[in-house]
Amino acid sequence: MTDPRTVDAVVVGAGFAGMYQLYRLRELGLTTRVFEAGDGVGGTWYWNRYPGARCDVESMSYSYSFSPELEQEWNWTEKYPAQPEILRYADHVADRFDLRRDITFDTRVTAAVYDEARERWTVTTDGGESVDTQFLIMATGCLSHSKLPEVPGLERFQGPTYHTAHWPKEGVDFTGQRVAVIGTGSSGVQSIPIIASQAADLTVFQRTPAYSLAANNRPLEQGEIDEMKAHYREWRDAQRTSGFGVPIEPATRSALEVSDEERRAKYQGAWDTGTLTAIIGGYTDTLSDRAANDTAAEFVREKIRERVTDPEVAETLSPRSYPIGTKRPCLDTRYYETYNEPHVHLVDLRKTPLVGLTETGVQTSENAYDVDAVVFATGFDAMTGALSAIDIRGRGGVALKDKWGEGPRSYLGLGVAGFPNLFTITGPSSPSVLSNMIVSIEQHVEWITDAVGHLREHGLTTMEATVEAEDEWVAHVAEVGDATLYPQADSWYMGSNVPGKPRVFLAYIGGVGAYRELCTQIARDGYRGFTLR
Ligand code: FAD
Repeated sequence: MTDPRTVDAVVVGAGFAGMYQLYRLRELGLTTRVFEAGDGVGGTWYWNRYPGARCDVESMSYSYSFSPELEQEWNWTEKYPAQPEILRYADHVADRFDLRRDITFDTRVTAAVYDEARERWTVTTDGGESVDTQFLIMATGCLSHSKLPEVPGLERFQGPTYHTAHWPKEGVDFTGQRVAVIGTGSSGVQSIPIIASQAADLTVFQRTPAYSLAANNRPLEQGEIDEMKAHYREWRDAQRTSGFGVPIEPATRSALEVSDEERRAKYQGAWDTGTLTAIIGGYTDTLSDRAANDTAAEFVREKIRERVTDPEVAETLSPRSYPIGTKRPCLDTRYYETYNEPHVHLVDLRKTPLVGLTETGVQTSENAYDVDAVVFATGFDAMTGALSAIDIRGRGGVALKDKWGEGPRSYLGLGVAGFPNLFTITGPSSPSVLSNMIVSIEQHVEWITDAVGHLREHGLTTMEATVEAEDEWVAHVAEVGDATLYPQADSWYMGSNVPGKPRVFLAYIGGVGAYRELCTQIARDGYRGFTLR
């Protein structure tokens, strides 16, 4: 690289999206710099080191498909891999493809400003660096901007506090301690059993219970690894054309048109394999008809009642206020059983709301709970949080944050009108979080790379979504979303976990396969809906 301050492309983030984007842009011959806030690669799996952090897509599916050699040489050990193993994989990929030399670690991008006359972006970092680039690709992650509970006095607490998404690298030993965990989404569900196994006393503060399925995790057998490796290409093809990036038998029938026995057998089968998609994708109408959805929801509630001995605790842990699948469902290992232990207590924040932290613990409207440590498993400002945290200014100095003031506006979740040559990997209004994300990441990276290659090949310099295409896409995403049950939940999919965030369905539920086909067709049509100059 001649002058690192002037490059062809800047990529923000070195998780699976940023790493693969760098690899592809290099192949295209572009000088590329990646900026990463952490001091290593891996993104989600670099930051979320909390005990029990684990993927709930099977390891052999949740992995890159772009390199058959990588696929063959890497051996996953478990069906659902734990965070350390995924991070080792990310490190291996970075080493194998010599990615680190173009990544600047420990550096956060703070601003990016488009210069209309020069048709280039100026990217600024918290290290004081300024980089001039033609293309700006945001690989900042859908679940990377963590959030805390909206209560006063968090700083008042005198003991240590931890957020699951910023877990100390050296780990935390809770042995003998009184611990509070606030939040029972995916990170809470995964960490609570392990924290409980160490703590002398654990109090869990729950606002909304999750639907969680027993993961039935296990070591992978050599035979199944060999079998998958022998047929990896077919499997990858099936992933790409599936609804959620995980191949399952496509549903053909309504949950309401089959007998109770048949339905139960199907749910039990899904339960036995511990596969989320099988339970929410087993029937055509699980995500669109409340009565159909209730059959799956009730099946899971029944399992909760079987797993929790105290009926009152079981009821508190049973979700009733939203349909199954409309908040991110969880896979767990001994989550519900943990509440059978005498030193584990559950506080229902719907009945006694969280008031704040005190010097010695957690205060609800009814009680004070003295603890030695507090764990926030309170999730993320999803999809838009990491993007809005950067001062991104497009044409006319318009801030992306302001443009998205009433909800994100994007064409395909890839490009934004008024922001030429800015691309978002798994951006809002693409399937992203509703899929096996590596499948969606690869599709976006490949599409963006092809688009950049197309511009170069044709002597063009900029590409920008048109306002009309963007408007149509935003309307289409909303229409498809409105035909489902997703808007019935107060979820991070809907932005409802962040006060003041507009209530908009942030992802595209049209299906990974159909969406891919559409993106490919749009490219074939000369990037229909984009202005190329
Ligand atoms: P990330 O991995 O989030 O990486 C984004 C990177 O960008 C981060 O390293 C961040 O530090 C960096 N960054 C952000 N802003 C800036 C900035 N301004 N300057 C510099 N750097 C910046 N997906 C699944 O498909 N299946 C799962 O089972 C699953 N489990 C998950 C469990 C947890 C706990 C979490 C949090 C997410 C999970 N996900 C899962 C989603 C997961 O985020 C994706 O699968 C995938 O890892 C996303 O990769 P990414 O590169 O797009 O984003």
